[in-house]
Amino acid sequence: MLENLACSFEQSSSPSSSPSSSDSTDTTCLSSNNNVSTVDSIKDNNNLLNHHNHHHHHHLLTKCTSLTIREWQITIKEWKVPKLYKITDVPEHLRFNPFVTNGYRFYKLSFWQSIYSLFYLHNETLNILTHGAPFIYFLLFMPRHIPWDLIDYHFLAYLHITGCVAPWLGSCVYHTFMNHRSGVDLYQKLLKWDVIGIWITQSLGASTTIYTSLILYPFWLQFIFIFLYSLIAIRALQHTLLASGVWKRRLGFAILVGMRVLAFILRLNAIEIGQASPLIHTIMQEIWPIIGALISAARIPERWYPGYFDLALNSHNLLHIFAVIGAIHMHLATCSDLIWLSNISKLHAHN
Ligand SMILES: [Zn+2]
Repeated sequence: MLENLACSFEQSSSPSSSPSSSDSTDTTCLSSNNNVSTVDSIKDNNNLLNHHNHHHHHHLLTKCTSLTIREWQITIKEWKVPKLYKITDVPEHLRFNPFVTNGYRFYKLSFWQSIYSLFYLHNETLNILTHGAPFIYFLLFMPRHIPWDLIDYHFLAYLHITGCVAPWLGSCVYHTFMNHRSGVDLYQKLLKWDVIGIWITQSLGASTTIYTSLILYPFWLQFIFIFLYSLIAIRALQHTLLASGVWKRRLGFAILVGMRVLAFILRLNAIEIGQASPLIHTIMQEIWPIIGALISAARIPERWYPGYFDLALNSHNLLHIFAVIGAIHMHLATCSDLIWLSNISKLHAHN
């Protein structure tokens, strides 16, 4: 569990920002080439048609259609390697990690330019890949990895799938579109979606683990525990939606982690009564993301060598990778929990 928790540890940046100094880079981020031939340029042509005189437009259009094949090739090639920027070139809300000094995408990307940024290397590439690849893999193959025939609790299995996939989706969207030209307002919304993804893992994704830990206890204890857990989870969601500060959000998630530790102690106690599933995965599903969160909060290793980990292996990359490892443990833990739960309920049905 706790997947990705530290994504919430990432950007505490204040929403007070305006694009910085570099408005001079505004014209086109994708190409330093003045040949008019990219999609955007054609769009620009349309604008020109609307706003300026026909003569000018005609001139550009002639230029565009009269490009030789070689010129097209050069243009496409240059389009493929857009210019990257220094931290001082991007607005305040994108400067959330001062130790990542280079490799920033242009800060006014359009929707399609943001999509296009999936195909060249920049300082968010690894963040997108490390959650994008598992997202696609889990979406395609995860239903096959669940032992449907052996389990009775299909509802919990669906919650588990949602809990695995949601944070990766939120994270991918956030990291892909954070440089969109809509600026800080959209950025804040995307960040919210990222954290809501983590919340889904923390609440819905945790349901099997918690339910399994409590199954051998009296109903009143199960009820109180799950009621409290839901209440705190809803409060944490409120803080997330109202964006009332990173620390309240962290506190909400931290209390949920605390309650899962409590559930784990109850589980250990219950093992004497019945044979529970392997504990190693239940432990590691919490440990990996916590390590990731700590590394991310401490900004290790880029803090020691600013600028050297811009493209790879910086703290946020590591957090993403640890979150994925945590999710694999969560999946294994949940599958064996679900089988065990079903066996227990069959046993009870016999008696
Ligand atoms: Zn992230």
